[in-house]
Amino acid sequence: MNDNYTPGQDCQCHAHSEAECGCDVDWTPKEVYDLREQRDRLVNALIEARYAMYEAKEWIHVAKFEEATERLVNWENKHTNYIFHLIKGNKP
Ligand SMILES: [Zn+2]
Repeated sequence: MNDNYTPGQDCQCHAHSEAECGCDVDWTPKEVYDLREQRDRLVNALIEARYAMYEAKEWIHVAKFEEATERLVNWENKHTNYIFHLIKGNKP
């Protein structure tokens, strides 16, 4: 999808919505594409945070590492359903 995307942009039958259209073109709202992109960025950020935590184990003081890990795990537990929903690739 490019930045100029508008739903139904390739419609040839002058429909105003997917319900009227017979062209089999994409009527997905732009917001859905934007939210999917945002979802992917958040999932990647979470994976990077996990990886950074794993790498940090080498040089962070043990107590600090455990505290940071606990905070990350608590955050993940608090948002588990939402994260699982994101990782499954469902629509936002
Ligand atoms: Zn059409």
